[in-house]
Amino acid sequence: MAHVLDGSIVSIHQALVEKRITPLELVDEAIKRAKANDDNAFECILEEQARQHAASLTNPEPNNVLWGIPYVLKDNFSTQGIETTAGSDIFKGYIPLYDATVVEKLKQANAVLIGKATLDELAMGGTGMTGHKGIQTNPYDPTHTRQIGGSSSGSAIAVSAGIVPFSIGSDTGDSVRKPASYAGLVGFKPSWGRISRYGLFPFAPSLDHVAYFTRNVEDANQLLNVLAGVDAHDATTLVEPFVEKPFSPTQTKIAVLKQVFDSIRNPIIRKAFLSSIEGLKKQGIIVDMVDFDEALLKAIYPTYMTISCAEATSNNANLDGIKFGPGYEGKTYQDVMMQARTNGFSELIKRRFVIGSFVLMRENQDVLFLRAQKIRRKIVNQLNSLFERYDGIYLPAAPTIAPLFKNSSDRLSNEYLIADSHLALGNFAGLPSLTLPLGFEDGLPFGANIMTAAKEEALCFSLASLLEETIGFKNLIASKEGLE
Ligand code: GLN
Repeated sequence: MAHVLDGSIVSIHQALVEKRITPLELVDEAIKRAKANDDNAFECILEEQARQHAASLTNPEPNNVLWGIPYVLKDNFSTQGIETTAGSDIFKGYIPLYDATVVEKLKQANAVLIGKATLDELAMGGTGMTGHKGIQTNPYDPTHTRQIGGSSSGSAIAVSAGIVPFSIGSDTGDSVRKPASYAGLVGFKPSWGRISRYGLFPFAPSLDHVAYFTRNVEDANQLLNVLAGVDAHDATTLVEPFVEKPFSPTQTKIAVLKQVFDSIRNPIIRKAFLSSIEGLKKQGIIVDMVDFDEALLKAIYPTYMTISCAEATSNNANLDGIKFGPGYEGKTYQDVMMQARTNGFSELIKRRFVIGSFVLMRENQDVLFLRAQKIRRKIVNQLNSLFERYDGIYLPAAPTIAPLFKNSSDRLSNEYLIADSHLALGNFAGLPSLTLPLGFEDGLPFGANIMTAAKEEALCFSLASLLEETIGFKNLIASKEGLE
């Protein structure tokens, strides 16, 4: 029989309110599953703290859907008194003095933090292979030969493997929405500014979003009610509140970007995607294939790399081995910094900081950094003009199922130049964007993505719910030995 923990947040909440289970029993089960999991999802499991928190929760709160619900947090969010490393040795031993705003909000709601999740180092990368804890694997693949994707790799595993019903990640280019595709999950990022980034380690702040995984759309919607909101600690948070809105499918128009769809070659993904469009049409939605400038689509990846590496280099200049980290030796400041950055960072981080420094050099700024900003603006303008005519943009989330490790690379690939990069459109323009399961190939999931205009989260959830119903995959957990 399915365990309560296998259900949605909403159904677990119901069980808690009806006292069919206690927060402590839930947490014990979640921790048992976390320990049994062998996909390398955790930087740390907070057994004692979580049990204590859960034991203190004795009066269920019918109007607080997160009360007593266990969750997992990506390790690039500050947690007061708990080591936070962002998957990098350079932060070894760093214990923050304050909680990130999302952590604070989840504490207020009495959701129970059971562990901090592994990630690609400093949230850069998309493979789940570059963090200091080694490689993360996909719970759908018991042979451990395939990625879960990244950078929010551990957070994706925790929900996909049935350990917790939701987890928090971050998304700068696709770091929640791409792993969601490989993990059979809902992965959602709202508009830029909708959720406070206070306490999230910056990667590229103009692109960074707090994002999260759930197993269904309704849970994602419920979570945003808790996490959204203006924050005095983050001047970029949106002042207008997130509100639910009425929705009617018959007046709704969706665009499929033809050049992106054409770049996806996998016949199983193409077929599943087209059949989901038929489902949408049956519900009265108008779906059109529309053109998007192919040169701009090809420019997404280089533009993303230029801007994100530049911002990352600048924002991580404080990682000099002195303010944080295990205490590197050296006679001078420069020596210490050299030691820290040589030994504290993986090859990928060094490569990205070299790119960032290069594009920010005075003699390169105009031709590289500023040009990338202009291209970003052109892309955003074209997206915004599409949203004058359409309510949503619908696409396959990724061109393949989870890649094999042996085929993995973080470098530019021509074959997937557009298909693997298009989710970053949502970061360039700060748009709500949600990945949900679309189908399976060889027992491995793949997803679709729906995107709406800025601040239109309610519409994004309505369209996603419709898709979820049409496609028919919901509350998936990777079936795997070891999970009773
Ligand atoms: N995969 C992208 C990168 O390598 C996105 C990372 C992210 O969203 N944090 O930077």
